[in-house]
Amino acid sequence: MTESQKTTPDITIPADLLPSDGRFGSGPTKVLPEALNALAARATDFMGTSHRKMPVKLVVAEMRNGIAELLRAPDGYEIVCGNGGSTGFWDAAVFGLIDEKSHHLSFGEFGGKFAKAVAMSPDLQAPSVTESAMGTRPDLEPVDGVDAYAFTHNETSTGVMMDPVRVGGVDDLMLVDATSAAGGLMFDANATDVYYFAPQKALASDGGLWIAMMSPAAIERVERIANSGRYIPPSLNLWSAVENSRQDQTYNTPALATIFLTAQTVNWFNDNGGLSWSAGRSATSAEILYGWADASDAASPFVQVESERSKVVATIDFDEAIDADTLVEVLRKNGILDVGGYRKLGRNQLRIGMFPAIDPADTEALTACLDYCIQAMS
Ligand SMILES: *Cc1c(COP(=O)(O)O)cnc(C)c1O
Repeated sequence: MTESQKTTPDITIPADLLPSDGRFGSGPTKVLPEALNALAARATDFMGTSHRKMPVKLVVAEMRNGIAELLRAPDGYEIVCGNGGSTGFWDAAVFGLIDEKSHHLSFGEFGGKFAKAVAMSPDLQAPSVTESAMGTRPDLEPVDGVDAYAFTHNETSTGVMMDPVRVGGVDDLMLVDATSAAGGLMFDANATDVYYFAPQKALASDGGLWIAMMSPAAIERVERIANSGRYIPPSLNLWSAVENSRQDQTYNTPALATIFLTAQTVNWFNDNGGLSWSAGRSATSAEILYGWADASDAASPFVQVESERSKVVATIDFDEAIDADTLVEVLRKNGILDVGGYRKLGRNQLRIGMFPAIDPADTEALTACLDYCIQAMS
């Protein structure tokens, strides 16, 4: 059957089984309605005002301080931000963070993309890359002649997570892509030099911004390279980002709503107990969902090694009897959104966000909806 010939079966999930909020996407993710209401309340004194003046700079400060608290920033680490999302940060890192050569772990779409961006640079040596099959991850091992190590804390495409650890020499930088992890997974901040992310995933905000928690060693590197004479496009200059962030600004105009919503979520996490609380919500959802998949005849977790199974993005394989794409459409018709598998993985799979903003009770409700649909489709 071709795509257009496939018809979505007419299945209506009983209202009492439905989650209170149907957003289970892996990015952008569920934004807190309370945060959006708070933004609306600032419709005239925040939105549409200068990013170089106090009302906005105060929110940027609130966001930066809140993130430092949430991520338990070690002494001397700074919260730096700029425009362009995590993809923009990769380009900035190519120009201003890698001295000569980097080593990358590639175990999904995102780790692979950063390595490709590095490979195109005329200033850098070809990167060293260790790959592993989708749904697994390679070990991080020291590599000769490398000055930066790069890997994802959570590979959003495959649902594999990896604890940041330090390898290599004292001058080597650990660059951790935490785009879908920051706020949703516990980690040792001291094992990272640059823990970077965009806030439209675990931080329940909107896109366009990158945020990086940088160690003193990383900041020193950034300043040295910026003054080395290497060509760096101004909008990708990390030293400008550091200098602007210290004044609670960005080099050019940011999306004010994104900053506001990020500050709202981060405050909510911190007010409730910080990272252990927010990551705990994801861990609870993960227990519910993987527990359901393990017990289900029709479904099973894609990631085989239990300790590598992401607590923020679950990839669930389905038995041939259930067409996952059809299931995704049935769910969508019932208001449960964005649970399709990662396209390039090409599996009969659902990918489900379990970010802290998602109520574990809704994850529980989702499993009941899945059972209902599986029953109806079988
Ligand atoms: C989504 C994602 C990115 C890309 O983020 P953008 O803000 O869209 O550039 C990078 N890395 C990971 C791990 C992601 O999940």
